[in-house]
Order: sequence, then structure tokens, then C-alpha cells
Amino acid sequence: MTYLQPTEDQRLAVESFRKFLEAEIRPFARKYIDRFIPKEDMLQITPALAEFGLPGAAVPAEHGGLGLGMVTQAMLLEELMTVSVDLGLFMMINTGTARFIATMAPDHLREKYLPGLLAGTTFGSFAISEPDVGSNVAEIKTRAVRDGDHFVISGEKTWITGGHYSDFIICTTRTGEKELSHFLIDREEHGYETRNIDKIALNSQSTAQIFISDARVPESNIIGGLGTGLKNTVKEFESARPHVGLLSVGLMRAALEESIAYAKERKQFGKVIAAHQLIAAKIAEMATMVDASKLMCYRALSLIDAGVRCDLESSMAKWFATEAAVKVCRDAVQLHGGNGLTKEFNVERLAREAIVIPVPDGTTDIQKLIIARGLTGISAFN
Ligand SMILES: Cc1cc2nc3c(=O)[nH]c(=O)nc-3n(C[C@H](O)[C@H](O)[C@H](O)COP(=O)(O)OP(=O)(O)OC[C@H]3O[C@@H](n4cnc5c(N)ncnc54)[C@H](O)[C@@H]3O)c2cc1C
Repeated sequence: MTYLQPTEDQRLAVESFRKFLEAEIRPFARKYIDRFIPKEDMLQITPALAEFGLPGAAVPAEHGGLGLGMVTQAMLLEELMTVSVDLGLFMMINTGTARFIATMAPDHLREKYLPGLLAGTTFGSFAISEPDVGSNVAEIKTRAVRDGDHFVISGEKTWITGGHYSDFIICTTRTGEKELSHFLIDREEHGYETRNIDKIALNSQSTAQIFISDARVPESNIIGGLGTGLKNTVKEFESARPHVGLLSVGLMRAALEESIAYAKERKQFGKVIAAHQLIAAKIAEMATMVDASKLMCYRALSLIDAGVRCDLESSMAKWFATEAAVKVCRDAVQLHGGNGLTKEFNVERLAREAIVIPVPDGTTDIQKLIIARGLTGISAFN
């Protein structure tokens, strides 16, 4: 498996990306800790990220991407996520929309949106969740009513990552009693409004409500075919979940790094706290959680690259890594003592961010229900 032994190309790509992140992105992210990045400022960094392959690394070469696959793309995302989980999440969504459009959209949408996405100048979001629809995607209420060769779409979406920045949304919409479809809705052309949501953390990027009111969208803006919305949403979750797990790997890596540095510096009882056995054990546990989480995420991504369906492995990676990060980041706060609770140190923010990540793309409970259903053949959802 390639994630255990990176190729020389992967190693070089990650190394040069790391240098760029330290020089350009870390100072940028630091400027916006707990502060919203306006779109014009976001646009100052995204074209440079695009040159390194985010969001185009896994887009097939025939569609203008680098064609490097999910694992290589994830290696780049993981580095970004370790520097800034806000930027990592935002770029992760853009890698998803770019790939979704490249592999499933009709030619005219691909030609219109993909060049801007790949250049880091156009942003898209996935709009699935609604005020009354979270874990149960099948109950989506946003409705598309046919009017000739157009559909008129109305509804409200919520928690949409990148929503405030988005030039378009890929909107999961009800087109029949038991039928969902994906529409590309363009902010300028068809119209929708957004409002940002303030949260416990991850406020540098946008999590937004989206209001769609009688948007007239041509039938040709359906992605993946009429009635394929549920199937393709589930498929998208398969690849999104190990990426969400990697957001937590990024947080854990940062927490571990801060903890090791602090443990080697802080003295109590006449020696550095790293020399106390319980602190040493904590550091060992943290490092092992990072490693186990990483392996699970990259296993799922390797299977996807190999064309093997892996919903179970993907759900396992998501719940394990995201819950591991809640513990690891909390342990990092504990290891820092009182200092860990202050804004002077990064770990309090990492702990707040870690709490957020088990929720998107299906909560921990939902991942466990998916895994158990896969193993027993019995659904425990209802
Ligand atoms: C930071 C962030 C980013 C997000 N980004 C996006 C995005 O880009 N696009 C998008 O569409 N959505 C996005 N979401 C929404 C996210 O996917 C949902 O919040 C998530 O699926 C949970 O839905 P909910 O919040 O409505 O919780 P609910 O579904 O109301 O669940 C509430 C609680 O009940 C539990 N529960 C629900 N059903 C069951 C059951 N059958 N058995 C046992 N327990 C159950 C859940 O585990 C949870 O603990 C994002 C959310 C966050 C926090």
C-alpha cells in the first residue's frame, strides 16, 4: 500500500508543499485565528494552493487535473490540515466538488466550472443538510418542480462548508416522492442567499445556511442523472469520510507536536515533565492514536484509488480518527496544565476544533450504525 511507503514523487511533493505552507500559509492562518477570512483574502492564497494540486490532484488528467489519485491528494491535504484545519476543510470540499464535476457532470458544466475550480478562483459547496434533515439524508425537503426543460427549486440548506464563499452549490434536491437528484445551482445565474453560522470553532472559514427561493435551473444542470441523488450522495460520503478523518489527524499531529515541545521544556519536581512516566505514557498514547487513525484513513483512500468499494472502512476511519482527536487534543490541554486553557497556547483551539469534526459527514453514531449494518445485514437506524 502506497501510504506506508511514499513514492519518491509523493515524498518530494509533500516536502515542497510543507515548505510553502510554512512560508505562506501558516502566517496567513495565524492572522485569522478565530476570525473569518473574507472571500477576497481567501482568493489571495487559493491560486497558489491550486499550483500545488489542491483541488486538482485527484481530478483525472483528461479533465485538466493532475490525475494523481486520492492517496497523493490526501497527503497534500493532510499537510494543510495540520497547519490549518479551517483551510484544510475548505480545500477538502473544493477537491470534492472538482472531482464530482470532473467525473459526473455533463460537458457544458465541466467546461464552465472546472477551469476556475482547478485554478483556485471558483468555489463550490455540497448542499445536503437541512434544518430538519441531518443524519437521514433520504428525507430531504428541498424540492425541484419541473417547468418544461427547467426545474424550479426552493428550500433551505444548513451547515454548508464554504457556503458563504461558494460560486455554486451541488444541491441534493427532491425531484419525486422517493427520488433525489443533484443540481448545480449558480449563485449569479440562478440565485441563492447565504448566511454564516458562528460555531465553537472553525470560524475562519464559512459554515453557512443557504436559502433557495424559486431558482429556475435548467434540466441540463443535473449532475449524475435524474433520480441518482441518494446513491451518489452515499458514494460521495465514502470518499469524504476518510478525508474528514484526516482533518482530525491534522489536529492530532499539531497537538502532539505542541505537547512534545512543552513536555521537554516545562519543569516540575526538579525535571522536565517529559521525564515523568505518566507524561511519557500520554505522549506514547497520543502518537499511537495519530498513527492508527492515519493508517485507517489511508487504507480507505487506497481502496478507493484501487476501485474497491469501502463504505465500512471509510466509516471506521471517520469515527475512529475523529473521536481519537477529541481525546488526543484534550490530553494535550491537560499536559499543558493551566497554560493549556489560555489563548497563549494553541492547544485550547485544537481541543475546540476537535469537538467539531465528529459531526460532519455523519456523526460517530451514524458511522457505527453503518458499520454494524454492513456486518450483520440488519439496520438499527429506526
Ligand atoms: C463543521 C460542519 C461542516 C458541515 N459541512 C456540511 C456540508 O458541507 N454540507 C452538508 O450538507 N452538511 C454539512 N454539515 C452537516 C452535517 O453533515 C450534519 O450536521 C450531520 O450529518 C448531523 O446532522 P444533524 O446536525 O442534523 O444531527 P441529527 O441528525 O439531528 O442528529 C442529532 C443526534 O442524534 C443522533 N442520531 C440521529 N439519528 C440516529 C439514529 N438513527 N440512531 C442513533 N442516533 C442517531 C446523531 O448521532 C446526533 O448525535 C456540516 C456540519 C458541521 C458541524
